[in-house]
This record gives sequence, structure tokens and C-alpha cells, in this order.
Amino acid sequence: MGFLTQVWAKAAAATDPVPTAVVVPDEKPVQDTKPDAGQPKSERQEWGYDLYPERRGETFKPKWSRILFGMEGQENIDRYKCEQNVYWCVKNGPLVKLMMGALRSSGCPIDLRRHISCEVCDPSVTGGYDPVLNQIVVCQNMAKNKSMVHGVLTHEMIHMFDYCNNDLDFRNVDHLACTEIRAANLAHCSFLSAMTQGDASPFNIKEAHQNCVKSKALASVLAVRNITHEEAVAAVERVFPKCYADLEPIGRRIRRNSTDQQKAFMEAPMYGYDVY
Ligand SMILES: [Zn+2]
Repeated sequence: MGFLTQVWAKAAAATDPVPTAVVVPDEKPVQDTKPDAGQPKSERQEWGYDLYPERRGETFKPKWSRILFGMEGQENIDRYKCEQNVYWCVKNGPLVKLMMGALRSSGCPIDLRRHISCEVCDPSVTGGYDPVLNQIVVCQNMAKNKSMVHGVLTHEMIHMFDYCNNDLDFRNVDHLACTEIRAANLAHCSFLSAMTQGDASPFNIKEAHQNCVKSKALASVLAVRNITHEEAVAAVERVFPKCYADLEPIGRRIRRNSTDQQKAFMEAPMYGYDVY
């Protein structure tokens, strides 16, 4: 048995099949236009299954030619690194620890093995939340360092928190838009300085942050729903004021290169969250 055969056998045995589910992707690039707008999506695509091959019971199988060029065949190593990064974030990441505490206090405690899964995903996503299995997917092929994993975990834990506390129905576009606005607001856009996005002066940082949240939420909604760009924009605008103002459970927008993450963590007990 040569090296390639071993890699193949290992990769094939890597995961237990997981039932298919609706997955809410943490979508990576911010796109303003939907590439396949207007084209009918299959039901599977419509609910985001296609982005998570391992969610529909398929084990990721590397192609021989790609193994030869060193492009694939790394799945077990990637999974190990991803799990190490998840473990690091759970022990050391202030927002992840805060979210874990908030979930615990809300009656939805996270068990690492049960609720967080490192998987090979479509390259367009870095993570996702599967409300049917109540699992967070971290895309081991895309989120490759601690800070990316920290961002994915915080984002997806906000969906998990909303699902736990707010009677969230992911099939309702307004609900989906709301939880995506909250996740973008409290995680993604708060890590980015408006200045680094190029379109902000010190006078319009507030507006730039709101625009970041809107475009990120819009892209996430469009990634899983077979609706037009206009319908998605309308849903985001409809719920924006209420959902943008809702800072639970982090309590503040986190500015980059600030002590906000630590402050949020220290203040969590004031909101009744059981962090440690
Ligand atoms: Zn999301």
C-alpha cells in the first residue's frame, strides 16, 4: 500500500455521516450582487446544503490529481488544526468565552464535541450554523488560524443564542435577516475598523459601520435564500433598526485594537451571564 492509498483510506474513514440539514452559512466574501440571481436553485441549494458536503452525509473525497500536487489530502491534518484552534478560542477568546457563558445561562450550554464540528466546506463559506442539529460548523479548509476561528465561533454562537432565546425561525426571511444583522454587528463588522474599509472618514464611521452590517447581512441572506436582491434588501431594511440596536449578549459594539473584548467579558456578569 503506497502513501497515496493510505491518505485515501484515512480520508474516507474520517467522518461519520451526518444527516442533511438546513445550514445558515457564515458567508465569506461580501458580495453586492448575487452571481446566479434569477436562476432557479434546487431545494438543496436553496437551504444551503450544497455549501457543506459533509452535512449531507458525504465524506469529502480528495481527487487523486489534487493529492499529487499537494492541494488536497490534508483533511485529517486540517481537522486536527481546526479542533486545536477551536479549543484555544474556547479557553482564551474573550468573546467566545462570553458567548459560551451567555448560552449556558440561557439554558443552552455548549458541549464542544456535540455542538462544534470542523468540516470541509465549499470555499465560499468559513462557517455555518445548523439549527436542526444545533451545531456550529467551522470550515477547516477556510478558517485556518485562531483569529478566523474566533470570528466564526462568535458569529455562529450569536445565531445559536438567538435560536435558544428568541424563537427564531430560520425559514422566515425577516428572522434570518435579523440574526445576520446581529451577528455582523456584534462580530464581523465590529472587528473591522471603518477606516480600513477605505470608505470612511472620522466623520462617517457610524454610517460606515451600519453599511458594513447591512452588506454583510444581505450577503448572508442571499447565500441561502432563493429570493431576489430587492426582497433581501427589503427584509434587511425592515428589521434593521430593531436588530441593530439589540446588543445582547455582548452589550457593546467591539472596536478593533481596543480593550472592548475584555471589557465585554468582564461586564458579562452584570447582565446575569455566567462566565468563567
Ligand atoms: Zn450568519
